[in-house]
Amino acid sequence: MTDIVVLGSTNMDLVTYVEKAPQRGETVPGRELRTIPGGKGANQAIAAARAGGTVSMIGAVGNDAFGTRLRSTLEHSGVDTDDLRTADGPSGTAHIVVDAEGGNAIVVVPGANGTLDHLSPGDEGVIASASTLLLQLEIPLPAVLAGARAARRHGVRTVLTPSPAQPLPGELLAAVDLLVPNEHEAAVLTGRTDPREAAGALLDRVPEVVVTLGAAGCLYAARGAEPLTVPAPEVTAVDTTGAGDTFVGALAVASGEGRPMPDALRWAAAAAALSVQREGATVSMPYRPEIDELYA
Ligand code: ATP
Repeated sequence: MTDIVVLGSTNMDLVTYVEKAPQRGETVPGRELRTIPGGKGANQAIAAARAGGTVSMIGAVGNDAFGTRLRSTLEHSGVDTDDLRTADGPSGTAHIVVDAEGGNAIVVVPGANGTLDHLSPGDEGVIASASTLLLQLEIPLPAVLAGARAARRHGVRTVLTPSPAQPLPGELLAAVDLLVPNEHEAAVLTGRTDPREAAGALLDRVPEVVVTLGAAGCLYAARGAEPLTVPAPEVTAVDTTGAGDTFVGALAVASGEGRPMPDALRWAAAAAALSVQREGATVSMPYRPEIDELYA
């Protein structure tokens, strides 16, 4: 068993399916509205718990019905929510319009996530008790930085998913052990579109990098070692939302158990391949026995 703490966002995804997204001033009919718990923090926490990790989530939900559902979704997947605060206001929401071609347009309203601009007094102890801290960038940067600093003080391995893509302060990268960007995020951070070149440039700033490459798998690079490409299992994808978060959650569990990186990456790729075959981010995340079966 591993001890993983996630410091990050919770959002209710409000997904509408349309033929064609509306232009300015236009009203279009929608086929269906789905409310799906998400947010990169909650996604990674649920993925890690389902993959068999012992997981706590530090974050904030609103004092509304979405907040109640976000909390109970985390708890049903086995995530400890003792450090998930209830803010005085609405939960974070992501308003997603998916068109007939599968393209989407998204508006994110941070809601309660925006209140997470600092750590609370008990948070450092929770981080100190873990072996791995998972961070993303959907809560205010000062809290992300404070979390990374606390992890560094207590020797906790820090894994950062740099999403949404943005330039990052050197101080944050200096406190990160493993960076897991997708190709686009790696390009934004380095100005290089070739994943190998981007990974090489990132190694000047962090000791280990995994660039995820969608259906092509991932590229792992560590200082002083040859880069390693790990293919993804060939599957028919129906919805890749949350694939990256499933990958990171499972990777944290496997590497926290002491499995060598090539094995851990292959196991994480199996978890992500299972998730893309089903619709919805959190609802599609696999449990450990399914991951073991595809990995074998
Ligand atoms: P998202 O934002 O949708 O969560 P991402 O852009 O962060 O995803 P990707 O690089 O698209 O991340 O995917 C993460 C991992 O998920 C990949 O490294 C791969 O292992 C797996 N994956 C993604 N798409 C597919 C696919 N079509 N088939 C198999 N595995 C996939």
